[in-house]
This record gives sequence, structure tokens and C-alpha cells, in this order.
Amino acid sequence: MRGLTLDGVEMITFRDDLPEPTIEADTDVIVRVSRAGLCGSDLHPYLGREPVRFGVIPGHEAVGSVAAAGGEVERFAVGQRVIVPFTTSCGTCDACVRGLSARCERGELFGYGDPTNASRPALQGGQAELVRVPLADGTLIGVPDGLSDSAALLLADNFPTGWYAVKQAGARPDRPVAVVGLGSVGLNSVAAALMVGAGPVLAVDPVADRRGRAAQLGAHVADPSAAEIVAGEIMNIGFPSVVDATGALPGQALAFRLLQAGGILSIIAVPTTDRFAFTPVDAYDKNATIVAGRAPVRSVLGRFDIDRITLPTDVIVTHPQVPIEHGPDMYRRFAAREEGIVKVLFSFA
Ligand SMILES: [Zn+2]
Ligand SMILES: [Zn+2]
Repeated sequence: MRGLTLDGVEMITFRDDLPEPTIEADTDVIVRVSRAGLCGSDLHPYLGREPVRFGVIPGHEAVGSVAAAGGEVERFAVGQRVIVPFTTSCGTCDACVRGLSARCERGELFGYGDPTNASRPALQGGQAELVRVPLADGTLIGVPDGLSDSAALLLADNFPTGWYAVKQAGARPDRPVAVVGLGSVGLNSVAAALMVGAGPVLAVDPVADRRGRAAQLGAHVADPSAAEIVAGEIMNIGFPSVVDATGALPGQALAFRLLQAGGILSIIAVPTTDRFAFTPVDAYDKNATIVAGRAPVRSVLGRFDIDRITLPTDVIVTHPQVPIEHGPDMYRRFAAREEGIVKVLFSFA
């Protein structure tokens, strides 16, 4: 089958000879992928900032239809459209029951592979024609008929992640929120904050195109160099809720500076450093609450009426249908933060 492999730092290869996955357990499903997302967090292993098993098929966001189902799968049948969230989850362990599907005791992340344990096979990712989904009943989410592939793909990670980030930050109606970093997760955080009625929302990014998209959603916007001035005009005592969606220390430092005393800093970007951008003394002096962690997408979506969400798909999905053959070039351009590229979806037609 056709798909991508990550073969080394900044080495994405398109291949048309990848082995097709097969049902390995009765609880597996094989999904024929119609769209696979390219995510900001795919850049961490690509750029060598996060360990991964080289040779793996990357990608942890996919939408498609069930191509085959194991004998114990009860909720999904061949042909059904499904969202593949970025981790598998059993639905019954303590973490799953507590609504933390991303920390399922049996959970695995698509498209990485543990580089420290070569004996454990990597769970291949979604940037290929077919993907094997273990624990399918507890992992997959059905797609309502009317939902486009682009919108469904945002539900596989970025929108529920943004929603989780702002809820973790304490967002609620009429409460100001600041979001630092306007990649897809940051823009989805802005959208989610406005959706829950929070406001005003301040959105910060150095890329003008991304600020323009946040403004379209209804946010106040600022370049990082002017963020504290603009923030002071909106909330001269700082923000009670701040989301760090940058994954970099300067962005996190700015996010912390925007926080008011007693505020909540929600770190949603995957960290790639061994320390915070602020000290314990800084946190103490602001009576700050720090929350962090991967969004439990399956649990979050379980609380939504997916039929009734209106996602800002057109504002965020800049490249809805990039042939998978262009994967190596798209990774390079996305990593270079080329103007006008926010969310890229690979297609397999
Ligand atoms: Zn993602
Ligand atoms: Zn579980």
C-alpha cells in the first residue's frame, strides 16, 4: 500500500510497497484512510526533538471507513465511517472510566513506537492507505453522515485538544482567555474558548497569517513582541486562563507572563524540554496553577453531541486534500512554518 515512513531526522519517505496491516486480535479493526492529518506534534520526531522508532508510519489523526473487523468488535461494521483518535483506549480501565482515555492502561499512541523497547512492535500510524486500530470498540468514534472529512479529521485530535486545553485553563462564559501559539491546536483552542462563551480572547503568534485566522474566529490578536501591551489594554491585571500551545520555551515564558495572580496556565503543546520556562519561585509568586497533558480525545468526544458542533474547518484546514505522494515535501514546508500552511490533510485517491 501507499504511505509515508519516518526513516530518520527530517527523512520522510513516500513508499508504494508498504505491507498492508491485518487483523491481529479479535478486537482490531482495519480502517481504510480517506484523510490523515499532519500535526504540529508530528514535527517533534521529524525534527529529532522526540525519540521515535525510525521506519514507523507516522500520523496519529485519521478519518476513514472500516475495511475489516475482528470477531469481537461489536460497535463497528465494514463500511462505517470512523474517526481514529490519536491513542487507543479500552474504555473499561480506571483511567478510561475517569475520562482520561489518553492514559488508558492498555493505550498505545499511533505512529511512534517505543524506541527503548525494540521487542514491542510499533503501532503504525495513519499516514498510509490502511491502519490497524486495536481495541476498536473503545477507541473509534462513528462519523455522522453530514460531517465532512475535514471536520471529522479535526475531531481526531486538534479540536477536542483545543477544547480540553481551554477547559483545563478554567474557561467559562465571560471569562478572558489568552492563547499563545496559533497552529491548529492554538486556533482550535481559540474556537473552543469562544464556543464555551469565554471572552475576550487574546491570540498570540509571530506568523501574520495565523493571527489573521484567529481574528476571523473573533479573537483579539497580537505578535509576541506586542502581546503584553495588547494584553494590558484588555486585562491590565493579566489573564485568569492562559493556554500554551507553542511547545517552545519562549512561548511558554510569554504565556506565563500573561497570567494573572491566581490564574491557570494550561500547557497543551507537547513539551520537548526538560524544564519549564518559569521557576518554582515564579509560580509561587503568582499563586499559579499549572495543568498539562495530552487530551483524552475519546473521552472528550464522548461528552459531545458531534452532530451539533460547528467547527471552523475552513479557517483552520488550509490544505484539505494533499496527495500522500507529496508527503515528504509537505513535511518540509510545514516544518519551515511556511506562510499559509496551518492544517494539512493527506488524501489517498
Ligand atoms: Zn495531532
Ligand atoms: Zn482503558
